[in-house]
Amino acid sequence: MKVLKFGGTSVGSPQRIKEVASLITEGGKKIVVLSAMSGTTNSLVEITDYFKKKNPEAANNVINGLRRKYMQHVDELYSTEQMKKQTKELLEEIFMYLHSFSSSDFGEHEEKAILAQGEIMSTNMMTNYLRETGVNVLLISAFDFLKLDENKEPELSYIAKQLKAILKSNSQYDLYITQGFVCLDHEGHIDNLQRGGSDYTASLIGAALRAEEIQIWTDIDGMHNNDPRFVENTTPVRQLNFEEAAELAYFGAKILHPTCVQPARFTDVPVRLLNTMNPTAPGTIINNEMLPGNIKAVAAKDGITAIKIVSSRMLLAPGFLRKIFEVFERYRTSVDMVATSEIGVTVSIDNKDRLAAITEELKKLGTVTVDENMCIVCVVGDMAWTHAGFESIVADALKEVPLRMISYGASDHNISFLIRENDKQAALQALSDKLFNTAKK
Ligand code: ASP
Ligand code: MG
Repeated sequence: MKVLKFGGTSVGSPQRIKEVASLITEGGKKIVVLSAMSGTTNSLVEITDYFKKKNPEAANNVINGLRRKYMQHVDELYSTEQMKKQTKELLEEIFMYLHSFSSSDFGEHEEKAILAQGEIMSTNMMTNYLRETGVNVLLISAFDFLKLDENKEPELSYIAKQLKAILKSNSQYDLYITQGFVCLDHEGHIDNLQRGGSDYTASLIGAALRAEEIQIWTDIDGMHNNDPRFVENTTPVRQLNFEEAAELAYFGAKILHPTCVQPARFTDVPVRLLNTMNPTAPGTIINNEMLPGNIKAVAAKDGITAIKIVSSRMLLAPGFLRKIFEVFERYRTSVDMVATSEIGVTVSIDNKDRLAAITEELKKLGTVTVDENMCIVCVVGDMAWTHAGFESIVADALKEVPLRMISYGASDHNISFLIRENDKQAALQALSDKLFNTAKK
């Protein structure tokens, strides 16, 4: 069994839905995970914001706009009057449900119930389209198998048990469709896996079923070796190790949600990134293999703040680092990079919501300097310290760029640099030229 996930743009219009339908009806049995049509989850967020701000009229206006769009999609998507009618009735029910909320008693559960409707609509529309074209398809509700535990973590054993039972008693179908992103919490309320969480759904299903493969379909030919928005001549990376993919996803490669990697990695199910617009392109395969000595890709993450704490008291003082990290823990801010010397520590954070309070506390421990608008550039590949030489290639590429911090040695897969955001474009281009495009010169 394969698990295929299609994101919002892949199902973003009736035409795209038809294209996906033709892709998923080829080959053997599969489970297909769909996101909401692109833009829909954002509209649902807008609706919840208006309910929260006690402006139900504005919420209802957005709902009506969404309804008009969907009714038009239905007219374009289906060819029979009967399927148009049936789908419109189903969507009408959802829009009535959205209108049924009010600003009094509008809390977290109401918000999450609204956010789930995008995936419920897209999966129903796809299923009805497939039925109209004669496909033997079953729509499985994610609420019937995807549940979070008390710590808000997906309960993998429950997911596996439920899914296997559903598939067993419905083995006559060739194709199963389900919603990405949505789930239930441990008390049975509607919840979700955070924005962009449909990748995670696919990975959880693939892991639970020990699937043959998880395919994430987007609109680019796999993970590129550098950010195509900033750098010319990027090319897709054919293979990545799970750890390399996790680093790249975390440090800004937009193609895959960072949480998606873990379930697949632990159950050793390969993840393939494919392109809906170019379905025969090989894409990127992510698995547990490691190609020795290869530098694979570069990614960058903006909006980083560096905080330096210098104290002569640090000299030979055990426990100083603990005191520093406790401050970040207390303010629920996670630290990405760390550099230490005998008299000082610099750390980087990507969330500066609590920066003022953190700085105040750190001042009790030493002299604090803050550099904002920084950027982490991360180079990923097989970088075990036992192969000599790649650091000098990477450092040479960055010789014109002022480096605020360097981190190497924490994993065998990455070397990271902290630079100014303003230098990002130049740094990414220089790394691409040196690491990947030398042959072309
Ligand atoms: N529809 C959700 C979002 O836009 C989940 C997803 O697309 O993965 O965040
Ligand atoms: Mg999305």
